[in-house]
Amino acid sequence: MNPEPTSFHGQCHCGNVELTLETKLRADQLRIRACSCSFCRRHAARTTSDPNGRVKITVQDSRQLIRYRFGLKTADFLVCGRCGVYLGAVMKAGEKAYATVNIRTFDDFENFTQGPVAVSYEGETEAERRARRKTNWTPVAACD
Ligand SMILES: [Zn+2]
Repeated sequence: MNPEPTSFHGQCHCGNVELTLETKLRADQLRIRACSCSFCRRHAARTTSDPNGRVKITVQDSRQLIRYRFGLKTADFLVCGRCGVYLGAVMKAGEKAYATVNIRTFDDFENFTQGPVAVSYEGETEAERRARRKTNWTPVAACD
């Protein structure tokens, strides 16, 4: 069984920012993370990624997209400036970019049935953090 890639669509509340995650995994096969960092905790974010998939991010009005950075400032945390929804984070690495996405923005959120795994990345060095994201996050196909 090697199913064709399916895509999961997500968006912020007002529709300014949209995400598409293409993956060969089903919603119930994708591992879900509950990150304990001070940002994700406040948003109650539930994130997933597939290093063999790809993510497309489209923004209608980029002036209304907040790219929030904190801590080591190695990634942009994408928050819609119009409706306040947290969509995911993007890390640039040379010409490439990698993303983790907040499944709470997905249309079919209820199909992501894996119990969230609590994760904490406190204490990572910047090099460790970048290496982990390159390994675990989803390559970004397009990002405005
Ligand atoms: Zn919005």
